[in-house]
Parts: sequence; C-alpha cells; structure tokens
Amino acid sequence: MRIVLLGAPGSGKGTQGPRLAERLGVPYLSTGELLRAEAAAATDLGARVAPYLEEGELVPDDLTLEVVDRALAGGAAADGFVLDGFPRTLAQAERLGDVDLVLHLALPDDVARRRLADRDEGRADDADPEVIEHRLRVYHDQTAPLLGHYDERGTLVTVDADRSPAEVTAALDAALDAAAPRATD
Ligand code: ADP
Repeated sequence: MRIVLLGAPGSGKGTQGPRLAERLGVPYLSTGELLRAEAAAATDLGARVAPYLEEGELVPDDLTLEVVDRALAGGAAADGFVLDGFPRTLAQAERLGDVDLVLHLALPDDVARRRLADRDEGRADDADPEVIEHRLRVYHDQTAPLLGHYDERGTLVTVDADRSPAEVTAALDAALDAAAPRATD
C-alpha cells in the first residue's frame, strides 16, 4: 500500500508514520529526516538544502526530488511506502502520482504551536517561534491545498490528531482496516 501522511508540523506524522509502516511491512520515508541527514552530512546537496531547513522554507523541488528519488530507488518501496513530508505541494503530488490512501492528521494551529515549542529533538527549526510560525503558514498556503486534491480522488481520510499518540494510532489503524481489510496482517 502506498500511503501519504498529511498534517501540519507537530501533528504527529513522525510518531505515527513508523508505526504504520511497521504494521504494513513497508518502508517509512520522512523527507524532513532525509533532508536533515543530508544537511548534517555536509554533502554538496546538503549544503544547498540547509538554508531552507533553517528558515522553515520549502526546499526547492529539484533538490527535494533528488533525495526522494534516491530513497525510492532500488526497489525497497516496490510493495508500498509510508511517506511523511512528501508531497508538500501540488507539483510534488503530481510528480508522485497515484497513492492508495492519504491520512490527514488534523490539528488546530494553537496545539501545533505548543507541541513544537515543547518538542525536544534538538531541531533548530523548532527552537525559533518565528520559524515555527513560518512553517505553519507554509503548511496552510502550500500543503493544505493537497487535502482537496486527494479528497476529490476519494483517497483522503481525516483523523483527529489532538489526542494521545495511542488514540491516534488506533484511529489510523481503523482507517487502514476500512481501506484494506487486514490483508497485510
Ligand atoms: P515538520 O512537518 O515538523 O515541519 P519535517 O521534518 O517534515 O517537519 O520538515 C522539515 C523541513 O524539511 C521543512 O520545513 C522543509 O524545509 C523541509 N522539507 C521536508 N519535506 C519537504 C518537501 N517535500 N518539499 C520541500 N521541503 C521539504
């Protein structure tokens, strides 16, 4: 199954994504993680993406796609994937093509702000309230339009993410069951 997780920064994609991927036996791919690793490795590509990460700006598509294509190459994701952080724009969604299920982790902005400010992962883009604000704005401007895009295709399921991680996991499991009755268990 090809699954996309959509949701504002702080909505829990990085917590839920690996759980879903494990349940389905497919790889979990977080473009944020991949881009941060690239930046930390100080490769040529990493040096080019780092300034965008710091500002909470979307990394340009050609650079993002380099990282995504590399992660999807080699057949590891031939049986499916759980994508977190990609697509983030309509252009990226078109590039990705059809997916089976888009799980939207819905969270009010004030809760997202609080979670990001409290997050303790040493991420520079969580340390600055202005960068957090900017990421929320970018989410609403550029990524939220994907909700309508996938809703039209009948692949969107929205889950209330303003609950405990275990409750959100249960809701996502139920959404998966409804979409693909336990064939993968
Ligand atoms: P969050 O969802 O909390 O903002 P992510 O780890 O998903 O965290 O993303 C962190 C940063 O990585 C983004 O602010 C952006 O700079 C970059 N990024 C991640 N995915 C993409 C993408 N698909 N396109 C462009 N930039 C991306």
